[in-house]
Formats: sequence, structure tokens, C-alpha cells
Amino acid sequence: MNAMTTTSSTATYDVVVIGSGIGGLVTATQLAAKGAKVLVLERYLIPGGSGGYFERSGYRFDVGASMIFGFGDQGTTNLLTRALQAVEMKLETFADPVQIHYHLPDGLELRVHRDYEAFLQELIAIFPHEEPGIRQFYGKCWEVFNYLNSMELLSLEEPRYLTRVFFQKPFSCLGLAKYLPVNVGDIARKYIKDPKLLRFIDMECYLWSVVPADKTPMINAGMVFSDRHYGGINYPKGGVGQIAQKLAEGLIKAGGEIKYKSRVTKVAIENGKAVGVKLADNTEYRAQRIVSNATRWDTFGKLIDPQYTPQKEQKWQQRYQKSPSFLSLHLGVDASVLSDTTDCHHILLENWDKMEENEGTIFVSIPTLLDPSLAPPGHHIIHTFTPSWMEDWQGLSTQEYEHKKETAAAKLINRLEAIFPGISAGLDYQEVGTPRTHRRFLGREDGTYGPVPRRKLAGLLGMPFNRTSIPGLYCVGDSTFPGQGLNAVAFSGMSCGHRIAVDLGLNKRRKD
Ligand SMILES: Cc1cc2nc3c(=O)[nH]c(=O)nc-3n(C[C@H](O)[C@H](O)[C@H](O)COP(=O)(O)OP(=O)(O)OC[C@H]3O[C@@H](n4cnc5c(N)ncnc54)[C@H](O)[C@@H]3O)c2cc1C
Repeated sequence: MNAMTTTSSTATYDVVVIGSGIGGLVTATQLAAKGAKVLVLERYLIPGGSGGYFERSGYRFDVGASMIFGFGDQGTTNLLTRALQAVEMKLETFADPVQIHYHLPDGLELRVHRDYEAFLQELIAIFPHEEPGIRQFYGKCWEVFNYLNSMELLSLEEPRYLTRVFFQKPFSCLGLAKYLPVNVGDIARKYIKDPKLLRFIDMECYLWSVVPADKTPMINAGMVFSDRHYGGINYPKGGVGQIAQKLAEGLIKAGGEIKYKSRVTKVAIENGKAVGVKLADNTEYRAQRIVSNATRWDTFGKLIDPQYTPQKEQKWQQRYQKSPSFLSLHLGVDASVLSDTTDCHHILLENWDKMEENEGTIFVSIPTLLDPSLAPPGHHIIHTFTPSWMEDWQGLSTQEYEHKKETAAAKLINRLEAIFPGISAGLDYQEVGTPRTHRRFLGREDGTYGPVPRRKLAGLLGMPFNRTSIPGLYCVGDSTFPGQGLNAVAFSGMSCGHRIAVDLGLNKRRKD
């Protein structure tokens, strides 16, 4: 879209945010709390995106995320707690005693306990000869985390903030700068030699970054591998969807607006600057700043006319590619399928060579072990998913598509019998989602989980921040620094809100 036809009825805002994923909502709430006039436009019926929910037959299923970081009550890395606080909201959470229960090849069974030493003891019992290496490797992760957790986390694109934080915490800044271009594999190999243990470290990364240690930035690993023992993994009461619901409620209380069923089709560019948006129903809104919470492929491939696509974006796409989407099964099962000692989150892999393959690694979450209210009495939710590419699901007739879904689901459930014997017989409800479902309901190109490096890159240095080469246009969410995960996109949202507040002079405006 070129110039927008301005009519007297075109509403104007300080900031329009396209999308109400956690990244978009955190940006919006941060800005509304600072007094900006903010409008969030969401194409779906409810907020949350990949952090949303849906209800069927008495079950409340999380769309995607359910292993939640960022709900701690100390330090500075508890960004979900802080994002809610900014608009005077709070969520009750259930502490998860075990982050993940691994069921890996060669009988490698292991639980990552909330208690750090308990986790180390379990790992060292399997690899006693690697005790010093294990302690040194995870110790390095703590070093990164402690640097991060000692400083206020805001926009790295804001020079005054950077100067302030540098003078307050010079050692943390220098320490972090050292790790910024580093990947986990480099550090792991420095301290650990056992190839099986190195494969385990690959899986520790793959679980959330969907790439092995060599491609996983050390900064992200420092957060994940330490915060799980510090702030811990905490599940929000009422389901993950509550996070977005509360942020949306807080946004409105702070004077912001959110409109659902509002699909943005174009960002309006005038004289090279982003000035507004146009919806599928032709409604137009103008704003001083536009924020896209859509993926980079959707933002620059669809919302921005190709003539305005900055060269920088093309370069970025040469370095990063879309990760696969997922085949997701949302199951309701009889409670008798699970034992009293079952953990909430599991990873199942039978063959190391298949870790990154289509339908290789299986992820499982059973949130009803923490919050039973999400299922009818006597039942549990088992949400299980495995990487799957869009290509495999295209060009099928409706009948072929349904048949493929059934076959893939049966195969997955059959594999799960190894860790949950009797699951097939105990099924009460089943819903299958494919990459097509993720694309349709989340508005994400090819249903992708987010960007992953095409090859080994220099840590996090290649991930873009919030500003784009188009003046007035910002991006937020998992296509920006520091990547995927609810706490990560909350960081992106806080940074984006901070940068825009400075650009609009909001901090000053509030003081005046
Ligand atoms: C199966 C699965 C499991 C996961 N598990 C975890 C986990 O356990 N822990 C964890 O921390 N993270 C997990 N994640 C990742 C996490 O959910 C995401 O990284 C995060 O939610 C992404 O947030 P976002 O704000 O970047 O974008 P999204 O959640 O994608 O939100 C973007 C929003 O923008 C809207 N939108 C897009 N285009 C338009 C448009 N043109 N007009 C209007 N609205 C638009 C979409 O409808 C959507 O609501 C998981 C993800 C998936 C898919």
C-alpha cells in the first residue's frame, strides 16, 4: 500500500500494534502504562497467539507454550511477572518441581529438577567421569545468567540506557559482551568430552531452540539452563492463556484498546515512513509508530509492499531460516493412564540421529498435573507435539489430509506407549493440529516456530532488535532478539516499548 487515503474518520494513535501475541501485548502494555495512546489489532478472536488457549469438551488446552519461564519473584529476568506488574496485574502460579523428564536413546533417563544440585547429582550419576566438566559447563551458564540478572533489562538500541547500565554494572556488561557472539557447543566442548553427554547437551538446547548446541546462542542458554533453577518453571493457574488475558485486561485498564477479528493486510508507507495500517475490511488506522508482532516473513513478505522491503531483511533471510512447524496432538485421557509420580514435561527420542528430523523428537506437556481444573474430574490433558514441515501437508484432498492426520496421530500415540503404557486405551478426546493449523490460527507463515540459523552463526549477534530500516516501523516477538519462548518475547516487548517510549518522548511527557 502506498499513501493512505486520510479521511476525517481515520482514527489516529501514538502506537498501533499488529498482533496480540505476548510480544505485542507486552509492548502495548509497557507503552500504555507510560501514557501512550495504543491500539492492538488482533486477527483472531482472543489474545495470546502461540501463548493462547482453546476449549473443547470440558478441556482447556494450551495452544503451544506450557513450560513457562519468567514467573519468578526475584532478580530482573522474571519478565512475565514484571510485564503484568506494569499494568497492575498478577497471576497465581503453580511451581513445577521438574522442568523436564528426558527419555533418550540407550536408556538415558534423566530429570531436570528445580533444585540445581539434585539435577547435577542425577546427571553426574550417569556420567561420573565428567563431573568436573558438567560443573564447569553449567557454571558458565550461571555466569551468563548472573550478569543478566544483575541489570535492568531494556532496549539494547537505546544509547542512554546502555551508558547508564554500563556505569552501574560494568563487569556484567563486559561479561555479557564476551558471550554475545558465542554458541553453547563451543563452551560445552571446552569442558566435556564424552560424546553421549555432548549429545545430551544438544538435546538440552534443542528442547527450546530447535537447533543443536552448535547453533544455540550462549546468552539464551545461560537464561534457560539457570533460570529453571532460580525463578523456576511456574504454570499459571487457569492455563497459559491467562497471561495474555491478564495483559489485555491490564492494557484496557491503562487506557489502551484492543480489537479482535481485525486482520491487518498492509502497513501504509508514506515518504518512506510507516504511518498506518489497513485491515482486511478496509478500515484504516494511523499512528506515529507501527509495531508488527507478526513473524518477519509475514511482516516483510506480506504486510510491507515488496518495493519497501529493506535490503537488510533480505540479508537476514540468508542467515536465518524458518524452523519447522509442529504436528500437535491435544489429548484428553483417563487419569489412570498416569502414575502418581509422572512429571509434567517430557522429551522422548529413540534414536539420536533423528533428533532434528521430521517427527523425530516428541515433546509432551501434562499441565493438569499442576492445575487439575483444566480437565473434567478424573481426566488429564496430554499435549504432545513433534516437528513437522508444511511441505508434507500440502496438495492433499480433504480426505487425504484427514487420513494423514489420523495416521500421524496414531503413530505418535503408539510411540508414547513407551512412557505412558495404556495411553491408547485411555483416550477420551483427541484433536490433531498440523502446520496448516498453526498457519491458519496463528497467522505464522508455514506455521513456523520461528527463525533458526541456517548455519553456525556468531551467537546472538545476527538477531535483529526492534527497530527496522523503515522509519516508524518496529518488530517485536520471536523474530527479534532474543528469539522464541514467552519470557524471551516478553523481553523483546519490553525493549520495544522502551525504545518507542524514548522515540516518542513519553518518559519526558509523563514527568511533565
Ligand atoms: C507447540 C508450541 C510449543 C511451545 N512451547 C513453549 C514452551 O513450553 N515455553 C515457551 O516459553 N515457549 C513455547 N513456545 C514458543 C512460544 O509460544 C512463542 O515463542 C511465543 O508465544 C511467540 O510469541 P510472539 O508474540 O512472538 O508471537 P505469536 O504468539 O505468534 O503472536 C502473534 C500474534 O499476532 C497475530 N497476527 C499475526 N498477523 C496478524 C495480522 N496481519 N493482523 C492482526 N494480527 C496478526 C496472531 O494472530 C497472533 O495472535 C511454543 C510454541 C509452540 C508453537
